[in-house]
Amino acid sequence: MSNLFIFNSDLRLRDNPALSNASNNGEALAALFIINPQKWTDHNESDLKIAFQIEHLKRLSKELDVLNIPLKLIKADGIKDERKKIVEFVKTNSISEVFVNKEYGFNEIQRNSYLDKEFTKFNKKLNIYDSSIFEPNSIRTQSDTFFKVFTPYSRAFRSKLISKKPEIIDLPKKQKTKNFESDKIQSLEMSVERMNILKLYEVGEENALTKLEKFVENKILSYKEKRDFPSLEGTSSLSPYLSSGILSSNECLFKVFEQFSEDEIGVKTWVTEIIWREFYKYILFHNPRVSKNLSFSEKYDDFPWSADEDNFISWTKGETGVPIIDAAMRQLNNTGWMHNRLRMIVAMYLSKNLLIDWRKGEEYFMKNLIDGDFASNNGGWQWSASTGVDAAPYFRIFNPITQSEKFDKEGNFIKKWLPELESVKNIHDPSTEERKQTGYSEHLVDLKLSRKKAIEVFSNFSK
Ligand SMILES: Cc1cc2nc3c(=O)[nH]c(=O)nc-3n(C[C@H](O)[C@H](O)[C@H](O)COP(=O)(O)OP(=O)(O)OC[C@H]3O[C@@H](n4cnc5c(N)ncnc54)[C@H](O)[C@@H]3O)c2cc1C
Repeated sequence: MSNLFIFNSDLRLRDNPALSNASNNGEALAALFIINPQKWTDHNESDLKIAFQIEHLKRLSKELDVLNIPLKLIKADGIKDERKKIVEFVKTNSISEVFVNKEYGFNEIQRNSYLDKEFTKFNKKLNIYDSSIFEPNSIRTQSDTFFKVFTPYSRAFRSKLISKKPEIIDLPKKQKTKNFESDKIQSLEMSVERMNILKLYEVGEENALTKLEKFVENKILSYKEKRDFPSLEGTSSLSPYLSSGILSSNECLFKVFEQFSEDEIGVKTWVTEIIWREFYKYILFHNPRVSKNLSFSEKYDDFPWSADEDNFISWTKGETGVPIIDAAMRQLNNTGWMHNRLRMIVAMYLSKNLLIDWRKGEEYFMKNLIDGDFASNNGGWQWSASTGVDAAPYFRIFNPITQSEKFDKEGNFIKKWLPELESVKNIHDPSTEERKQTGYSEHLVDLKLSRKKAIEVFSNFSK
């Protein structure tokens, strides 16, 4: 019997339930990765993230080869074509059973339900596994609905953790025979500039695991104190690996609890962030509106967002005249990653001070982040724009200057990305004179007035 495992956001051998089960089940197993540029464009996936995945796959393919599991590539042209191409592949290659891990986006759920129906017609089987820490239907309120607020969700999550500590499923087994030769993987074509950014991120599952282990060993205990300061390397930087599934959330908790309990405050805080990640996937699963480019809360469908394209472009370029925001956007544009505190600050500035539709920011982030993750990105944006689940109340708007003074006190982060401000006295908000001398932009909008306006617009809209 010949089986097929299809890769999605689970580009790993370890802790991969569908791949592990597929390897137990027959004589030969192939793995499939779908090259689908149209889908990547439709989903706003960044070239960095795709290139990172492709480079990672080259390494993964070698590891799979050792297990006699060839990696096949097929090309598809968009979401609908992808499912047809999978069916064709299964038919023409006499595959008996197909194995996938569940994905929670609307398109992915539809794809699997199409495959299931099609396969049944010609006697093939689709086996779907859940690779999240806890399956989304297994965490419910006492009245048997799904949670919309993080704190009670995380409480329920933690009480499940007490009764079921994370375990890692067996690695895939070596296959008796090999039914194909692996396909050759071509790197994505990118500019030299983008290639240089890509070099900042090491591919490979072993590297991701080592990074996790080092974080747990050396940094997790000080995570709570350091995580909000962008000039310190106080967070794990694991998001590119988690978003492409090179590492699973489950693996993160497994490694943490091998060494620590949640009595340590740093550990507890980091585990909470992993639970946030699971929460946003849970929200995506339980609320298909989120996959359809709509606010979680229906009420915001007709919100009067500003259409000021010039302001939006200044924000993307890091030319708003607010140093912490401009430094953050330059970090994103130059590295494909942004610190969490800064993601919140820039998202709130765009959706409140500039009153620009959060979906434009969400799209820009996805197109530029190496760790773009639909659920977390959407969740983070809707939290900041006050349109999501358990979101920031619309009247609690961060003042970016105060945030800057608090989280980048010495201005070290700002100076790194805005070297023109290296020697100004008022690093968090240069004076008019300092702006003139250094050529640094004037404020795009007055922070106090724009804050007042945002509260008025939200308040009038909520009446
Ligand atoms: C507007 C906005 C957009 C965001 N977009 C993304 C995105 O596209 N992809 C993404 O992975 N994260 C996103 N986040 C969440 C968070 O900013 C990043 O996960 C974090 O900065 C990654 O850095 P790290 O790996 O060092 O995180 P750590 O602080 O070490 O946390 C460990 C892991 O926990 C998860 N995590 C941490 N914070 C959050 C959070 N607030 N929400 C959900 N998961 C979290 C991530 O997987 C992260 O890698 C976004 C947040 C905001 C406010």
